[in-house]
Amino acid sequence: MATSVNSTPSTETDSLPPTTDGESALILYNFAGSVHDADVVLRTTDDVELHAHQLILRRVSPVLASCIDSAISGSSRPRIQLPAEARIVDMLLTHLYPEYEPEETAHFDDLLALMHLAFTYQIQAVVTRLRKELVKEEFLYAHPIRVFSAATSWDLEREASLAAEASGILDLSTLSPEDLRGVSAVDYVRLVKLHKRRRAEILQAVEFWLSRRCKTCQHSNSWAAQFRARAVAEVQRRPSTKVIFGEDFMGRNAAAGACSSCDLHFAFVEGWKELVEMCRPDKIQYFIPRPRTISPTDSLSSLSPIPSFEEGDIILRSSDGIQLRAYKRILMEASVFFKALFDLPQQCESETDESLPIIDCQEDSITLQKLLQLIYPVPNPDFRNVDEVQPVLEAANKFEVDAAMAALVSVLRSPRMLASDPVRIYALACRYSLPSLSRAAAAACLRVDLDETGEMSVVGLSAESFTRLLNWRNLRGAQIRKLLSDQSYGHVCQVCRDRWTSRWLGLALFEVSKRPVGELIFSLEFVMQAMDMERATWQSMPGHYCGNSVTEGDREWMRTLRARVMELPEEMEL
Ligand SMILES: [Zn+2]
Ligand SMILES: [Zn+2]
Ligand SMILES: [Zn+2]
Repeated sequence: MATSVNSTPSTETDSLPPTTDGESALILYNFAGSVHDADVVLRTTDDVELHAHQLILRRVSPVLASCIDSAISGSSRPRIQLPAEARIVDMLLTHLYPEYEPEETAHFDDLLALMHLAFTYQIQAVVTRLRKELVKEEFLYAHPIRVFSAATSWDLEREASLAAEASGILDLSTLSPEDLRGVSAVDYVRLVKLHKRRRAEILQAVEFWLSRRCKTCQHSNSWAAQFRARAVAEVQRRPSTKVIFGEDFMGRNAAAGACSSCDLHFAFVEGWKELVEMCRPDKIQYFIPRPRTISPTDSLSSLSPIPSFEEGDIILRSSDGIQLRAYKRILMEASVFFKALFDLPQQCESETDESLPIIDCQEDSITLQKLLQLIYPVPNPDFRNVDEVQPVLEAANKFEVDAAMAALVSVLRSPRMLASDPVRIYALACRYSLPSLSRAAAAACLRVDLDETGEMSVVGLSAESFTRLLNWRNLRGAQIRKLLSDQSYGHVCQVCRDRWTSRWLGLALFEVSKRPVGELIFSLEFVMQAMDMERATWQSMPGHYCGNSVTEGDREWMRTLRARVMELPEEMEL
């Protein structure tokens, strides 16, 4: 038996996992305590030491092999810290040792933790085995969105496709926080797009299926037409064939009766097979493009003249190798980071003739120049779009340059920036905890159609924060729709009853479900649009006399509605 070189208490106590909910569970790890001939110690995040064999770890993982190499010192056993709990590490080891029959992972969170370890340490055999578990029915339909998110993060295309298809059983507009735990807004937005496409595909297939049946079947009383109607309603909410192809769903309106020609056994089966075939998700369709990352150097540098930064007592070297000189004194005044850095005792650098100290920065030269411009008493740099602001904001945040942060926030708060991509600005505000910017950006988000949000706009945002924005938009939409519907018309035409006012109301109710703000629906263009639609119907209605007149009642009605809508607070609670 190998002797333990633990400095911590005996392994018996180590192997007791922390008690949960006051109830003590006694789980003994397979690899705690004495493991015959063990020659490496694995420390876990919950401070347990597990014992394993170098030979086995080296054989399965190149990463663990190099961890072991660098941990070997003297005669004591190498110790390696692993980023997981003992429970998970123990499970991983049972996958590696031939004498254990690894059980299927019972809990989804455990599987993710296990896969994370397997990917981190490049344990290919385990990765292959766990990929199958990731998409087993039980997990796939219980957590389709989280499976999708995990699969995309590890570039597992097949698993991502399966999960995307399975996620069709969920209505994306009514998800629980549990459905979205750990999911990025980028993945959420991808799924919204995929669902849209999938919905169109299935609906098209169902329409085609009905169109292939006889004239009688097209009639709304037939089983087929009723099946179509129910299927459309279902797929509108949840773009999946799982429900509509179920026996239960098919049989529900069996009373409508089979068609004597289309539902003869052979004809029915052929038609149904065709429908199922048309609904089959295309293999290629869920190919997931990596989000395009925009390097600030791709965009042209700003047009305003940039100070050259050729003087100073310190050199900042950018990631692209440009040396910018700056004065320590100024950097220290502006940045908490630099103040702390220069307060440290300096070691002498002799890379340049003048022996100026060099600080290597991860930022590129354009970013550093703009940051310095914001710090120096010179005109602020110009930013043409959010892409140009983002790297500088990142740098200002990292170097803790409060004044630059404030300047950049006011750049992002400008109406032009907010209008260009409010969701992206909202995402940045969330990332850098800038509440005033978050509120301004959220209000600007009401003015764009959030259902069309692109992946690039939500990089770095969590699906939870993004759906919070969507829910707020929906809530406001519902509030405004209620306000608009509650107020009866000032004047109703006795002939057509359908004046421009009711056209306007119809258009406005639709518009505010996308963009729940007052300024658009009360604009002149919007009102004119309603009047134009109304005018188009006049020809078909001889004797119609109300025209597009605007009565005193109409005016009062509009004024009241406008005042009520404008009174609604436009601040999202953060
Ligand atoms: Zn028929
Ligand atoms: Zn009329
Ligand atoms: Zn009319």
